[in-house]
Amino acid sequence: MKHMIKKTVALVALGLVCGLVAAPEAEAAKRPNVLFIFTDDHSARAISAYGSRINRTPHMDRIAQEGMRFRKCYVTNSICGPSRAVILTGKYSHLNGFLMNGRTPFDGSQQTFPKLLRKVGYETAMIGKWHLKSVPTGFDYFDVLIGQGPYYNPPMRTTNDAGEVVVEKNTGYTTDIVTDKALAWLKNDRATDKPFMLMLQHKAPHRNWQPGPAHLNTFDDVEIPEPETLWDDYSGRTSAASSQAMTVARHLSENDLKLNAGPNNLTPEQKKTWDTAYGPKNEAFRKANLQGKAKVKWMYQRYIKDYLRCVQSVDDNIGRVLKYLDDTGLAENTIVIYSSDQGWYLGEHGWYDKRWMYEESLVMPFMVRWPGVIEAGSINNDIVSNLDFAETFLEIAGADIPSDMQGRSLVPLLKGETPANWRKAFYYHYYEFPGAHSVARHYGVTDGNYKLINFYENKQWELFDLTADPNELQSLHGRAEYVGVQTRLENELQRLRGQYRLPAEDPASTRPRQRRRQ
Ligand code: CA
Repeated sequence: MKHMIKKTVALVALGLVCGLVAAPEAEAAKRPNVLFIFTDDHSARAISAYGSRINRTPHMDRIAQEGMRFRKCYVTNSICGPSRAVILTGKYSHLNGFLMNGRTPFDGSQQTFPKLLRKVGYETAMIGKWHLKSVPTGFDYFDVLIGQGPYYNPPMRTTNDAGEVVVEKNTGYTTDIVTDKALAWLKNDRATDKPFMLMLQHKAPHRNWQPGPAHLNTFDDVEIPEPETLWDDYSGRTSAASSQAMTVARHLSENDLKLNAGPNNLTPEQKKTWDTAYGPKNEAFRKANLQGKAKVKWMYQRYIKDYLRCVQSVDDNIGRVLKYLDDTGLAENTIVIYSSDQGWYLGEHGWYDKRWMYEESLVMPFMVRWPGVIEAGSINNDIVSNLDFAETFLEIAGADIPSDMQGRSLVPLLKGETPANWRKAFYYHYYEFPGAHSVARHYGVTDGNYKLINFYENKQWELFDLTADPNELQSLHGRAEYVGVQTRLENELQRLRGQYRLPAEDPASTRPRQRRRQ
């Protein structure tokens, strides 16, 4: 944490911290606004700025074209709620207490960056998907989906004029509604004498990928290319890779594939539009009576098209928000960020879902536009993480960064000045086993070129050379020619476990005690 202290000293020396905190309101209002646009389960491989082979996302791309795109933004624990808890706290899961989805609620009494932003005069809002069970804390305004939230007609939790938490009904497509609410807050509800932090967080494109009315037939006439590894047989890895439950071939339900009656919460008009879109497509599928590989190929097409349809609605709505910023002049002093809570499998390794330390689910999309600060069209290759987001927001706001946060501010990187002592290796830890999709608990380390993974309950290791084998099909663990790399990464793993204060005992094994405390 030495660097934090040094940085704070440096900022104070420059008069930035003192100047901003003590500044009159008009001066403080010049600090940049932050619009953090966040989705659920959006793989970077489904963003054209990241070289997507399967779709185009012009509005997301604009953020990269006018700002910076990070190639190696790694999630510390590749699952929804835990990623959000890391972002709020700047701490790994074992310290913020949110190790797994569906267990204990997020402890909202702890230190989070929105609380610290409020202290230095920012107005904070959380609109859309919260997904941490507890009532949001640290926000001047919140209007959030309950749990996962549905794709259509979502009830949402907010506060009324008396400050009581209430649930309100909404009618329409959730991606549109969340955007409408964010725009309404920007136009009508925020305090215009303060800079703002708006967290605009979509449910999409989370399972089970229900497209909006505007995109129910998008991609109907095209065939989406299959990933190279759709037919992976897992032969080059330990038993973990073959014993999961997340394959396109065997684990997608009729509901996922839209082969049932469709969502049960649609209005009659929405239902009619839905049936008009899926009815003829499903009839054609049933008539074809596909078997074996041909059926899996059809399932991949149905799955990936519905996923991409949901992404298109997000992209359309980002276009609306960027236009609003342009039209009002807010764009000039507003940092716009696009990211998603983790990566995702778009059929790679035959899978959907996330959880693994393999590249597809480890890498988060992360693009930042900051007019006047970031050079347009820049690409960053440093190892960054959702662990760094809180610290970044705090430095942007001129707030001090608490020494117990575990990441580092990305502001120097955004300015194109990566510090010489920037991290060269990254620690990952996934806990949710037993759990949905049966992915074994594992932790590991990567330096961006090699990756070492320990499936510690299975007592099995994997080692990958990411340059020679970017799809991570053949583990090299135990090979004589890689002993140097393996030893180096083993040492790095232990060093990072110490640095991040991992307990000797698996923190997930203390679940019963955590439940009682809640
Ligand atoms: Ca997620």
